[in-house]
Formats: sequence, C-alpha cells, structure tokens
Amino acid sequence: WANGGLGCKAAVAWVPGKPLSIEEVEVAPPKTHEVRVKIISTSVCHTDWENLYDAGKGMMSRPFPLVLGHEGAGVVESVGPGVTGFTAGDKVIPLFLPYCGECERCQSVKTNHCRKNWEKAQRGVMADGTSRISCQGQQVHQFLGVSTFSQYTVVSDVSLTKIRSDAPLDKVCLLGCGVSTGYGAALNAGKVEKDSSCAVFGLGAVGLAAVMGCKAAMAKRIIGIDINPKKFEKAKVFGATDCINPADYPQPIQEVVVEMTRGGVDYALECVGRTNVMSAALESTRDAWGTCVIAGWTETEDMKVQVTKILMGRTLKGTYFGGWKSVPDVPKLVDDYMNNKLLLEEFITHNVPLEQINVAFDLLKGGESIRTVISLCDPEDDDATQNKGLLFKQ
Ligand code: NAD
Ligand code: ZN
Ligand code: ZN
Repeated sequence: WANGGLGCKAAVAWVPGKPLSIEEVEVAPPKTHEVRVKIISTSVCHTDWENLYDAGKGMMSRPFPLVLGHEGAGVVESVGPGVTGFTAGDKVIPLFLPYCGECERCQSVKTNHCRKNWEKAQRGVMADGTSRISCQGQQVHQFLGVSTFSQYTVVSDVSLTKIRSDAPLDKVCLLGCGVSTGYGAALNAGKVEKDSSCAVFGLGAVGLAAVMGCKAAMAKRIIGIDINPKKFEKAKVFGATDCINPADYPQPIQEVVVEMTRGGVDYALECVGRTNVMSAALESTRDAWGTCVIAGWTETEDMKVQVTKILMGRTLKGTYFGGWKSVPDVPKLVDDYMNNKLLLEEFITHNVPLEQINVAFDLLKGGESIRTVISLCDPEDDDATQNKGLLFKQ
C-alpha cells in the first residue's frame, strides 16, 4: 500500500447479533504514540460475546462495524513517531486498560483505572478520533482501542506491554483479560487471606482464575458454584475444594453456602455478570467482615443490595482487570506463568484458526469451552513473508 497500510484478514462484526465475517481489511500505519502489532494468537472472552450478541441489552451499544477481541498477544511490526518503549520484533500484549504512568490514578496505589484515551476507546476510535482499520473503504471501529481479532492492529503505546521473548504467545494471550481479571479479583480486590473460606460464582475463565487466586492466597475452603456441572472437574484442578450446582437445591444458593460454612464465606467472588448472582454472592458472605467482589460485567443493570447486609460490616466492591496496573503488572504475570506459579494451558480447551472464530463464540456460549485460542499469524513468518503469503494482494 502506497500509504503504508497493510492488507490482512480480520473478523469484522458488521452488525450486532450476527456472526463475525472474515474480511480483507487495511490496517493503516501507526500515528504518533501508536504501535502496529502483528497478532499471533487471541482468545474470545465473554465480554466479546456480550458486545456482539447482547449489545444494547446487558451492554451499552457500541458503534459498528467493529473488530472485537481484547485477549491477544503478538509482535511489534512498526512504531509511530514518539514511541520509545517498543521496537519491531518485541513480543507484546495489547491492553484494553491503559497505563500512562503519569496521571493521578497511575500514581496512586489505590486504583488501576487510568483514563488515558478512555472516552475515545469506549467509542472504538484512537486518540485522534479515527480508527486504523478499514474495510471496503469504510472505517471499522476498534473495540476498546485494541481489536485483536485482526492479523494486524494498531494500539496506543499506553495500551501495550512488552513481555519476555521466550513467552509462548498462544498461551500468554489469556493474560490480556480473563485470567488476569479473575486471579487479581481474588488477590488484589478481595485480598483473600490464608486459611479463609471463599465462594466463586461462575466457573468460566474468570471464575477459574479466581479459584486459582484463592488457592495462591492459601484459602482453606474454596467453593465453586456453577449451573453447568461440566465445569466442576476443571475447578478442582484449579483448587476448588467443593463444587455445587444451584439447580440441585430447593433453597437459594446463598443459603446453601451460609449453611455449608456455618455463617457464610469470608470472600465471595462473582464471575458471571448477572445481578441476581451478584446479590446472592453478597448474601453468601459472613457478617462482620465478609467481602464480596464483583468481576462479572453488566453495564445497564442495577443490583439489589439489602442495606443491613452492608450495615453489619460486609464490604461490596468491584474490580476492573483484577486491579492490575496493566503495563507493569502483565509482564510479571507472564513471569509467574513461566515460573510455574500460574496455570494457563489448563484454561485452553480448544484451538481454531481465524476462519473458525464463530465456532469459538458458539463453544463459549454453549458452555463447552473455557477458552478457545485462535491463531491468526504464524510466529515463524516474518512480515515480508506475510505480505507475500497470508495477506491479500492490493
Ligand atoms: P464464561 O461464559 O466463560 O463463564 C461464565 C460462567 O458462569 C459459565 O460457566 C456459566 O455456566 C456460569 N453461570 C451462568 N449463570 C450462572 C448462575 N446463575 N450461577 C452460577 N454460574 C452461572 O465467561 P468469562 O469469560 O469467564 O467471563 C465471566 C464474566 O466476567 C462476564 O460477565 C465477563 O463479561 C466478565 N469480565 C469482567 C472483566 C472485568 O474487568 N471485571 C474482565 C473479563 C470478563
Ligand atoms: Zn475480557
Ligand atoms: Zn494514567
């Protein structure tokens, strides 16, 4: 492309509620403080599913057409003016939560909510108000400023982190969202303590990672709760001591948890995204000091809270990306995986090429998968080969 644009394949969401369509897109070169990344692997998070199929329902409506995907890993292809932290060939993980390192929030130990480019990213555009991805002459929005369902994408340099060169990208892509979120929900937001009791509601990738976090914190009892009993075997691998299905009990599940633990758990972690489950999680905690952490996502619903539950000393809190400061913390999580302190392979139940990305969505919704890893580019190919082979001609 004369203008420096790259032609490649991407899964485009043209309209809400319809499967993704594999298209030839053009990815413009990175502008100031932007980086163009070749995505090697990505996985599908429940939040991608919701933004496609629940847009305007559980989720606010985002502009379409859109390239979804925010759990990916790749290699830097080129950098724009002003970029100092990255060079071509670096292994990287794109981040839907930025970290500018300079704002009040980045400087505070109390939060990871950096707001750099926030409004724009929510609207699916980069800092200058436009997207770098286009298809058939039309601008395609970039989900959360990331868009990993494309062989190439452009991200802001505050929404990208460099990771060690020996990290397997088809595994560490999971650290871009779900696993980090659940693990941090237990460790950072909940601050789960040794010998405590925990209940994890929802045993998808986020919930299983929360179980893993409770185990890392040396909780004594970890109760996994899911309406799909197929998840229980995996939950035990990650450290669940008991697994229960709400459908097996006549009474509400919070009553079951309170009975099992003689008064409630010290920590409850909601990893489903349903407001009735959030209320149940809060009500399953012990009075005086129980903590309920909400990791599940909804943007349009209200949650019911009995005021006396809070008055009696419980804490209710939420977490975005598990409380991790994205740029500095994700490489540390990669190290933890490389040092066998954190599991990743165990989350991966399926692998498919980009062409079958809709299968990954179906497997997630059907409760058949935990995470499906999608391969976009061959890590062995350099960019020149890619241009001749995989990528389409002008
Ligand atoms: P998932 O679909 O893989 O897992 C959800 C699990 O919840 C499934 O196993 C399902 O069977 C179970 N479930 C459904 N209804 C239930 C009920 N009533 N009681 C108990 N279990 C029930 O999803 P995921 O990718 O693990 O994501 C989980 C949630 O976390 C979603 O809402 C997602 O949007 C959210 N999320 C939040 C953040 C964040 O930053 N806070 C990041 C990633 C994902
Ligand atoms: Zn996610
Ligand atoms: Zn910041």
